[in-house]
Amino acid sequence: MTTQVLGVSERSLRLAKQYIDAGDVVAFHTETVYGLGADARSDAAVKHIFELKGRPQNNPLIVHVHREFDITSLVDFIPPYAELLAKAYLPGPLTMVYPSSNKVSGLVSCGLNTLAVRVPSSETAQAFLRAVDIPIAAPSANLSKHISPVTAQHVFEDFSGRIPLILDGGKCEGGIESTVLDCTGETPLILRAGLVTQEMIASVAGSCGVYVPKEGEQPRSPGMAYKHYAPKCRTAFFSPEELERAKALYLEEEERGGVPCFFCEDALIRSLDGFRALDLGSSGEEMANRLYELLHRGEEEATLLIGICPKERGGVYEGVLNRLTRAFGG
Ligand code: AMP
Ligand code: MG
Repeated sequence: MTTQVLGVSERSLRLAKQYIDAGDVVAFHTETVYGLGADARSDAAVKHIFELKGRPQNNPLIVHVHREFDITSLVDFIPPYAELLAKAYLPGPLTMVYPSSNKVSGLVSCGLNTLAVRVPSSETAQAFLRAVDIPIAAPSANLSKHISPVTAQHVFEDFSGRIPLILDGGKCEGGIESTVLDCTGETPLILRAGLVTQEMIASVAGSCGVYVPKEGEQPRSPGMAYKHYAPKCRTAFFSPEELERAKALYLEEEERGGVPCFFCEDALIRSLDGFRALDLGSSGEEMANRLYELLHRGEEEATLLIGICPKERGGVYEGVLNRLTRAFGG
């Protein structure tokens, strides 16, 4: 199979619809990362997504719909605070988890009685979702555990020859996966941090918790149990206070003939004169935007990536930190 990479046009949308109607998988741009989409109502199509990615069978998928789609047809109950949040932040990088009404394949939620729904703001995603006009189950378009894709080229590298079409919308501006918000309780609960922050949700909903799995408990957002986003090269992770130790490791790697490279925020770059370094930038949003692209570059260019944890906490930093610690193995 040849994999076509096409921008949005009448022809590419017609092709996308043909592939989706035939039960095939199509990758598409969103404002967070590229998605790997298929008909959420079809067991066979959803199973195909899991097989392509090598994704564990207990890691559920998010259903994507266009902005005019009637979400009440997919879920049992939408609490008033969720309606306020939808008005404030949708379309956008916020996934909301509701009690499912079991209208899509049971494989999407991996047997959970909830359904995660997202309305992406990307024009490419909206054009695709309007063209097919059905709920599309879509995880990130990377092989399981590999770095999430933020360009069509990243998707091509993981799936060339295995999917018929990538709808290219350029670089994903958001850069990290959507915030996943549990909307099944009396107050919203963040299951996965992202660009829509706890502060933003609390300012609309009145309050917002952050889920932390208790020891031994099955996590409510199963994907969070996995090592993820891992580059193919070796990695190490240090706090800013451990910079001298990190430099020693860098020099050791160089002496062994390897290619070490730092991976850190802009404020640290000045103290790394003479060292190779990938610059994450300074604000939380900038770091989210650059994170996966730099990880992809890092794995191409380095034998050892040395991550230094950013200093700030709260807001978008929480989502960035979560991805960083998991990409660098803690
Ligand atoms: P990905 O699209 O690869 O970012 O993965 C989607 C993530 O959304 C999963 O790993 C889960 O953590 C989360 N998710 C999807 N469906 C549900 C659900 N029904 N309940 C809780 N979390 C979910
Ligand atoms: Mg993923």
